[in-house]
Order: sequence, then C-alpha cells, then structure tokens
Amino acid sequence: MTEINRRDFIRFATVAGASLGFPQLALAANPKVVVVGGGVGGCTAAKYLRKLNPQVDVTLIETKKVYQSCFMSNEVLSGDRTLDSITFDYEGLKRHGVKVVIDRVDAIEPDKKQVVTQGGETFAYDACIVSPGVDFKWDAIEGYDEKVAEVVPHAWFAGPQTTTLRNQILAMPEGGKVIIVAPPNPYKCPPGPYERAAQIAMYCKHHKPKAKILILDPKDKFSKQGLFTQGWSKLYGFGTENSMIEWVGAAGGGTVEELDPSTMTLQAEIEEFQGDVINIIPPQKAGKVAFASDLTDGDWCPVNKLTFESSKHKNVYVLGDASSAAKMPKSAYAANSQAKVAAAAIVSRFNGIEPPDPTFVNTCYSILGEEHGISVAAVYTLDKSSNTILPVKGAGGLSPMDASDQQRKREVSYAHSWFANLIDDMMM
Ligand SMILES: Cc1cc2nc3c(=O)[nH]c(=O)nc-3n(C[C@H](O)[C@H](O)[C@H](O)COP(=O)(O)OP(=O)(O)OC[C@H]3O[C@@H](n4cnc5c(N)ncnc54)[C@H](O)[C@@H]3O)c2cc1C
Repeated sequence: MTEINRRDFIRFATVAGASLGFPQLALAANPKVVVVGGGVGGCTAAKYLRKLNPQVDVTLIETKKVYQSCFMSNEVLSGDRTLDSITFDYEGLKRHGVKVVIDRVDAIEPDKKQVVTQGGETFAYDACIVSPGVDFKWDAIEGYDEKVAEVVPHAWFAGPQTTTLRNQILAMPEGGKVIIVAPPNPYKCPPGPYERAAQIAMYCKHHKPKAKILILDPKDKFSKQGLFTQGWSKLYGFGTENSMIEWVGAAGGGTVEELDPSTMTLQAEIEEFQGDVINIIPPQKAGKVAFASDLTDGDWCPVNKLTFESSKHKNVYVLGDASSAAKMPKSAYAANSQAKVAAAAIVSRFNGIEPPDPTFVNTCYSILGEEHGISVAAVYTLDKSSNTILPVKGAGGLSPMDASDQQRKREVSYAHSWFANLIDDMMM
C-alpha cells in the first residue's frame, strides 16, 4: 500500500460518516464475513464492509423481517409518530450486495469458524461480527417475567409492546398514574427512561391533564439530569406540588423489588406504589447468542477496542450494546461508530495491514416537548495501553442550560434529522 493510500484509509476509519475515498484493493480471494444481528451495529458494519471492498462476501443474519428502531420509539408513546415511521426493511442493504438471511443464530463456533442457525443452516466465515443488542435479567424483580411483560410491558424493544404501552396510556382514566421503573446501569440508552416520562407527559398534558408519571429509579443520578429536570419543570411543573412528573431515586426508596400484576402494585424498598399503567424496564445484559457463544465475561462482551475483536475468541467482533465499550454509552450512534471501526479493521486484516487508530463519536438527542429538545455529544479516542475509550476533552458537550426557546426548538428538528441520517447511514 502506498503512503498516500494508507493515509486515505486511516482518514476513512477515523472520521465516522466520512465519504469513502478508500482505495479498493484486490484481495486474493473473496473473504467471507457473517454478521449476526441486523440492528444498528450489524447493518452499519455490513454496509461499510461492502463499501470498503465489494469483494468481501457479506451475509447478515437477523431474526426479524424488518427493523423497528428503539430510537424515536418514545415518540410513538406520545402519539407524535407511528410505529410504521420507525419500521424499515433490509432492501437497502441488499442493494449494497449484502446477503440477508432471516433466521435466528443459535451460536457462533469460533473453533470451526462457523455460525449455526435455528433453521439448521451453517455459515462459514473468515470474520464474524456479532451485534445482538441486549437481553433482560428476568429474575431481578420478583413477579416480573417474559409472560407478565405482555401485559406489563417493558417496551424497551420497539414493536408490539410499544403499541401495548401506548394503548394502555390512551385507555388510562383521567387522573391516572403511569409508573416507569428505570433500570440500573449499564443499560441501553441512558437518557431513554427520562425522555419516555416526558413523552408520556406531553400526551397527558393535552388529553389527561391530571395524570401523574412516577419514575422509580435504583440510581441516584441519571444522564443529562440537569437538562431533564429543567425541561420537566418548564413543561410539566416538576418540583411543584402539581408536577405531572415525579422522580424517586435510590436514596428515596426508588429500588423496586417486586410486582403484583393482579393489583398493579410495586413493592419498592420503603413503600408500595400502585399504578394504572406500569412500565418496567428490567436490568440488562448482552444478547443471548453472546452467552451461547462464550463471548461474555460477566454481563457483557470484552473486546480489543482497537478493532472490536472479542478478547475471548479470534476473528469474532462484538459491537454495540452487547460489547464492553465504556466509556461509550450503549447507544445507536455509538454502535454505528464502532461498526465503522470494526469494518475498517477487518478489511485491513484481509489486506494484511495494521488497523488504523480509531476515533469514535456519540450524539444523543432527547425530545421533552413539541418544541423542547436537548442533546449530548462526545468524541472519543482510544488509550491503547489500557484498552480504554476516553472522551476527548473539549470535544462535544451538553446542550447549554441557558439555551433560548429557539435553540430548544431547533434541537427537536436536529433530533429528527439525526434519526433520518442515522437510518440512511446504517441501511440505505
Ligand atoms: C426507548 C429507547 C430510545 C432510544 N433512543 C436512542 C437515541 O435517541 N439515540 C441513540 O443513539 N440510541 C438510542 N437508543 C439505543 C439504541 O436503540 C441501541 O443502543 C442500539 O439499537 C444498539 O444497536 P445494536 O446493534 O447493539 O443492537 P440492536 O439495534 O438492538 O440490534 C440487535 C439486532 O440483533 C438481532 N438479534 C439478536 N439476537 C439474534 C440472533 N441470535 N440471531 C439473529 N439476530 C439476532 C435483533 O433482532 C436485533 O435486530 C434507544 C433505545 C431505547 C430502548
């Protein structure tokens, strides 16, 4: 590789979302990459592998025929968007030459370099990318399990439960109470439960103005807390006697121990709470297939953050929510950024060259009201000696606390463009 080409290559990998000036080198054979999971990490990696070098044979295996994005699913709860508007098929990826297989992967067999599916198929690989998202720890709250979740929804995967929760909010009597049980760290989308409270309040403000939304939380602080409480105060009277939203943290007894679905009662550390609608977001761990494939250490999958190759098995790369990628949050934008780094590292490997030094990006918007958006953004670099991803000081930051109404309104339209651009980048 010439020096100029090498520089071009590194530029691609280090600038997330950069246009592709990548030199497409001739490969000796057509290496095979199997991607497990067609969410943000999996789709982005599959598409970018093909863009980096169309000689790479990419097969993506996903359980569902369509992807329903969790990001923006809170807006379905307020009625501001439909489930259809967050539902996407895989035709775009196919146009990039990705082979899409609808099946469930039972396990990855690193010693045989193959993936085995529930449908009985076997896929050989030179590199395997695994981005299965999260699974729940169902034994954390007594009385709450997968069956009960059909009537007391978590709605933490966008889909039928999003509709169930929305319908329950619509059917709730005026003056009713919605209880959101937030999860402990780490979990996907740290600001998600607090945006959800605001989106439900946004609906109630217009249709059930005496309703209450109570958040029970096993934590004492949460993401963008200052901006959230400021927005809740302005829009929903937070901190006053008539507040529509109430938050009870760990110190106030917010840790929930048990659910009695027959009486819709939650037993928390100090007292009992009764709700008309209950939304429990359980504690989380890496997706099932990561455990079945021996990719985990504790709840998550350790990786070499230079490439996102598993620390446990060679040639297997774990991305997104399932990976241990602190200090990056478990977010869609983080998964998208990690996928590009992994794709570049895999193509480098096929070309017999060192992977480039990565830079990662995260941006996360939360919409608190029709004209009130807030955000957090960060750029990250890798400290190779400690295998730690660190935020770059002075790059990114939070929306200012003293932003004008115009700025808050603008952040809502930025959030919607962010969504359209991310979907486009990952699968169109
Ligand atoms: C309410 C909510 C709001 C959010 N809002 C934002 C936001 O505003 N901004 C943001 O950046 N992030 C947001 N997120 C987080 C974001 O959705 C996730 O971080 C992101 O989707 C992670 O991507 P991933 O590839 O790791 O997993 P996912 O996108 O969840 O994809 C995993 C895929 O793998 C598939 N799969 C799992 N197991 C198998 C198997 N065995 N075989 C085949 N396929 C399998 C699943 O069906 C799924 O399609 C939000 C999340 C929630 C819940």
